Amino acid sequence: MATIGWIGLGNMGGPMTANLVRAGHTVQGFDLSADAVAAAVAEGVTAVEGIAGAVQGADVVFTMLPKGDHARAVYLGEDGVLAHADTSTLLIDSSTIDIESAAALHEAAAERGFRFVDAPVSGGISGAKAATLTFMIGGEDGAVKEATGFIDPMARNIIPTGGATTGQAAKICNNLMLFINLASTAEGAVLADRLGLDKQVFWDIASVSSGDSWALRTWYPVPGVVDTAASNNDFAPTFTTELANKDIGLAIAAARGTDTPLEIGEHVQQLFQRLIDQGEGGRDCSMIIKLVDGSL
Ligand code: NAD
Repeated sequence: MATIGWIGLGNMGGPMTANLVRAGHTVQGFDLSADAVAAAVAEGVTAVEGIAGAVQGADVVFTMLPKGDHARAVYLGEDGVLAHADTSTLLIDSSTIDIESAAALHEAAAERGFRFVDAPVSGGISGAKAATLTFMIGGEDGAVKEATGFIDPMARNIIPTGGATTGQAAKICNNLMLFINLASTAEGAVLADRLGLDKQVFWDIASVSSGDSWALRTWYPVPGVVDTAASNNDFAPTFTTELANKDIGLAIAAARGTDTPLEIGEHVQQLFQRLIDQGEGGRDCSMIIKLVDGSL
C-alpha cells in the first residue's frame, strides 16, 4: 500500500481521498480550509502541516485545486511541492487548469527531475463519491502508466490522452460541451413546462431520446426529478457557477489561440457571468435555469 500526499480536499478532493483510504492507502492531506481538512480526517485522511507535510515520504502526490494560479503556487512556490518533494515522488495534477499553466508545471517538474502528469477528471461530486470518475492523463508514457495504478481506486475510466497537457485539452473540450448541454437542458425544461408538460414526463422522454445528455441525467435544473441535482437543494453547489465560468473560459482562451469560433460557448459564458454579477457565483451552475425562467 502506498503513501499518498494530497493537496486540495474540497468538493472533489474530499471524496476522492476517502476512496484511496478505503483502498488501504495512507493519505497525507492538506488544505487551507480547516473545514475541508476536518471532513477528510473524518474519512480516514491524516492531516499534515502544509505542503511540506503532504509530500514528506510520499510515493505519489495529487493536487486537486481550483485554478491554474493555485496549481502554480502549490507546485512552484518557495514552499511548494517541487521545493519539498523527493524527485522519486510521482506528481499528478487532477485540477482543471489552463493549458499554459499545465505546460509550465510539466516544464518546471521535468527541469527538476520529476515525473509529472496532468490528469483532470470528469464525473462530478457524485462520480468522486462513487469512485466512477473518468481520468484523462497527459504526459510521458511511463509516468502515465505509473499514475494509472494510484488512480484506479477513484476511477471507472482511465484514458491516456498523449503527451504533456493533452489531459487538460480533453477536459476543457469536454466541459465546453457539458455547459452548452446544461444551458440547452435549462431552455428545454422551461419551455416544456410552459407548453403544459409534466416535468417528470418530459424528463422521461428526453432521457431516452435525442435530447439526452449527462447534464440532463445528473444536473437536471428542475427540482424533484433527478436525485443528484443541486436544484433539489436550493442550488447549494455541486459545481459552482464560478468554476463553470472558469472552465468555459479555458475553452474560449484555448479557442482564441487556435482560431476556433466558439459562438455558443461564448454565449453560455455570458450567462454564467450574469449569474456571477448577480452575486450567485458561489451557487450551483445549474442556476442558469433562472435566467431562462425569468426568476433572476
Ligand atoms: P473546491 O473549491 O471545492 O476545492 C478546492 C480546494 O483547494 C479548496 O478546499 C481550497 O481550500 C483548496 N486550496 C486552494 N488553494 C490551496 C492551497 N494553496 N493549498 C492547499 N489547498 C488549497 O473545488 P472542487 O469542486 O473540489 O474542484 C477542484 C478542481 O476539480 C477544479 O479545478 C474543478 O474545476 C475540478 N473539477 C470539479 C468538479 C466538480 O463537480 N466540483 C468536477 C470535475 C473537476
